[in-house]
Amino acid sequence: MRANLLIKPGQIELREIETPSPNSGEVVVKVKVALTCGTDLKTFLRGHPKFPLPALFGHEFSGEVSSVGRGVHKFREGDQVMSVPSGPCGHCYFCLRGQENICDAAMSNYALGAYAEYIKVPAQVVSQNMFEKPPSLSFQEAALLEPLACVIHGLSLLKLREDDTVVVIGSGAIGLLHLLALRAFGLQKIIMLGRRSYRLQLAKELGAYRVIDTREGITKEMVYDLTQGRGADIVVECTGNPSVWESAVNMVRRGGEVVLFGGCKQGTTVTFDTHRLHYDQVTIRSPFHLTRKAAREAYNLLAERRLTGNCLITDSYPLDRLSEVFSLLQRGDCIKYAVIP
Ligand SMILES: [Zn+2]
Ligand SMILES: [Zn+2]
Repeated sequence: MRANLLIKPGQIELREIETPSPNSGEVVVKVKVALTCGTDLKTFLRGHPKFPLPALFGHEFSGEVSSVGRGVHKFREGDQVMSVPSGPCGHCYFCLRGQENICDAAMSNYALGAYAEYIKVPAQVVSQNMFEKPPSLSFQEAALLEPLACVIHGLSLLKLREDDTVVVIGSGAIGLLHLLALRAFGLQKIIMLGRRSYRLQLAKELGAYRVIDTREGITKEMVYDLTQGRGADIVVECTGNPSVWESAVNMVRRGGEVVLFGGCKQGTTVTFDTHRLHYDQVTIRSPFHLTRKAAREAYNLLAERRLTGNCLITDSYPLDRLSEVFSLLQRGDCIKYAVIP
């Protein structure tokens, strides 16, 4: 099969490699759509601490089952499927305490290599986190399952009310998925912050209550103006930038919750005002990855069309133009790209 390999940071090669075959419990999926994601862009630029190069990459996908391993009864050849890339082991310290999102084996039970014609899906994923794609749902939208499941996991930690005002900082794919999910949960007052006109315009079209261009530099005051001087009930940080983590804490109301969703570069630190955290009782959450419950809920939102994510896919490109796709991603006048084998 043809597969894209990341040779070294910044260099991709489309190579002919052996088509994977499924071991016991595994499934091989013929990829119909693989989406780009912020994590993939980071991996492309810097490499990844967990995956030695050269490596297959790409982890958001949907497709058609091409072969199944021994003991797989849930799926058969030809089934249209969508999946998150990981599945918990069920018996490590963290899984046993209900924190499967940080399972010790998460990285070894991981389907990596969606920028290829076929991808092998590990047994733990097949049995727990792979779903049949409804015919009414496009392969493109189905491939949004993983990022949406991460967003749903984060939101599941909050006590959301329909009359909450939520500030979402960052209007990339993850910020916009927060907007779509919050709208699907019935919230109206979602204020989107960003610094790219293209994305802020899209946020407006997708029902943001207000959009604020942070390049104008008066963001915090504007948030307070829009909330009777209180600050937002909830602030969700989706940029992964330490200075934005710090400012997120200053936009929330007393007793409010801050979600630090965007992962920062290793080795960075932040400083918070202790009075703000304690006397204003600000709660900080830092959700990572996803749970089976979140994957199921994300699946239901997509399958029942309560959330439509087509608008997040800017354009599609064939497998052999992946390098070009990553250059476009760096320019930023886009959200996500679909890569079609
Ligand atoms: Zn992703
Ligand atoms: Zn585990």
